[in-house]
Amino acid sequence: MGKGIYASSLAKLLQAHGFSVTIQKFDPYINVDPGTLNPYEHGECYVTDDGAETDLDLGHYERFLNVPTSQANNVTTGRIYQTVIDKERRGEFLGKTVQVIPHITDEIKRRFKLLTVDKKYDIIITELGGTVGDIESLPYVEAVRQFIWDVGEDNAIVSHLTLIPYLKSAKELKTKPTQHSVKMLLESGIQPDILVCRTEYKLEKEVRTKLAQFCNVEYDAVIQMIDCDTIYAVPLEMLKEKLDTTILRKLKLKSRQTPNLDKWKAFLTKLKSPKKTVNIALVGKYIELQDAYKSIYESFIHAGAVHSCKVNVHTIHSKDVTVENAESLLKDMDGVLIAPGFGGRAIDGKIEAIRFIRENNIPFLGICLGMQMAVIEYSRNVLGYKDAHSSEMNAKCKHPVIHLMEDQKNIKKMGGTMRLGAYPCTISKGSKAFKAYKETNISERHRHRYEFNNDFREALEKNGMIATGIYKEKNLVEIIEIPSHKWFVGVQYHPELKSTVENPHPLFVAFVEACLK
Ligand code: GLN
Repeated sequence: MGKGIYASSLAKLLQAHGFSVTIQKFDPYINVDPGTLNPYEHGECYVTDDGAETDLDLGHYERFLNVPTSQANNVTTGRIYQTVIDKERRGEFLGKTVQVIPHITDEIKRRFKLLTVDKKYDIIITELGGTVGDIESLPYVEAVRQFIWDVGEDNAIVSHLTLIPYLKSAKELKTKPTQHSVKMLLESGIQPDILVCRTEYKLEKEVRTKLAQFCNVEYDAVIQMIDCDTIYAVPLEMLKEKLDTTILRKLKLKSRQTPNLDKWKAFLTKLKSPKKTVNIALVGKYIELQDAYKSIYESFIHAGAVHSCKVNVHTIHSKDVTVENAESLLKDMDGVLIAPGFGGRAIDGKIEAIRFIRENNIPFLGICLGMQMAVIEYSRNVLGYKDAHSSEMNAKCKHPVIHLMEDQKNIKKMGGTMRLGAYPCTISKGSKAFKAYKETNISERHRHRYEFNNDFREALEKNGMIATGIYKEKNLVEIIEIPSHKWFVGVQYHPELKSTVENPHPLFVAFVEACLK
């Protein structure tokens, strides 16, 4: 439906008025976090600086607001219950029956307010996942009702996002589903203040009036959220709808400045009028689902705009790449990105793609598993270690050039135990990475269990693949490069998680530049 984009756009407008804003997401599923979910189930797992595995909407929040999020910005039902049950076991409810109301709703409300503790934000937007009427959403809706009562109507307002379907045969936009959804919300004791209407067509005055009248909201509070050709145009559409002034009025807040969206608009102008195009293949194993590599696609959009260039991303399933067809699939590409991933499925195609790119001097960016596969390909085809592999895929091979990290060896629990979040990395001067970042000390986000095996570093370096970025404290290789190649960079971390509209990621910017050449 676009709740994440709506929340991000609203936050952007409030930020432009001079407020400090953050967004938090509450998800009604029972997993403690999405870290153990398959990308096909849930799309990309977004990782924050403090190492939380979170919903991909947090990526939108960061890309729009240019402000980092944290563990506290994403909460699931699993986490709520886990906290309450742990408390019960510690005896903190001694003598009492522990119930959904008040104990679960109290914990939800405590978490609604968690980000207020250090008083960093003027406004907090809370996105509730799911749909009104879902069984699992009920405690959240009740918590919202109580919360408004607790803090007073001047301090909390509710935006309700609904779909306005267009019936082609009747040539008509239908408001009935919205009326029913608001009715359902009213049954839970919540009157929405703002109605956000997702629509393919413009809402005319009569439709707006009908919605306002039957859903009991002000006429100005009916906000059209029309389909746009890019998500980055949505804040400006919301501005046209005067969403910002309506919200500020309802919260009894005075704007602190004329909304400043100059940087945003400059980005959009470049995005909408590209002067060049570049074709980049994304080889991965979850390509059927657009959301699985969300942050990578967005990073290409940000980096493309820097060069006034449209980046056409061609997705290729790694299971489809073979020795025979690598050339026909990749020869017309200006660059290739090998994606992150887990497990042995469709790995050979990634290795074959890398061989072709390396031998044909096509710019390459490998991310996490993509970097690991580049090390394996080089070990096999240049060093001649025919069985070289990652111990993730082959625990018994003689040349485990990628192996399990030392502190992962005794881990039994799968949830939240990878190497997660931001770690510093020192970059060697003169490397392609240094040219991109223009500094030696960087910090990037991680999500992996396996790493470059230092036992093979000397042999690889002697033969032309060098480590150019190191996490010094543990001597972990974070970046590998082939200096003799036009642009061949593999990174153990996820640069895509830190690219924002106002801060496009330097590595993506440099990669697109190399592809343009
Ligand atoms: N599966 C690899 C590891 O755990 C790579 C992970 C990734 O690509 N995020 O090390």
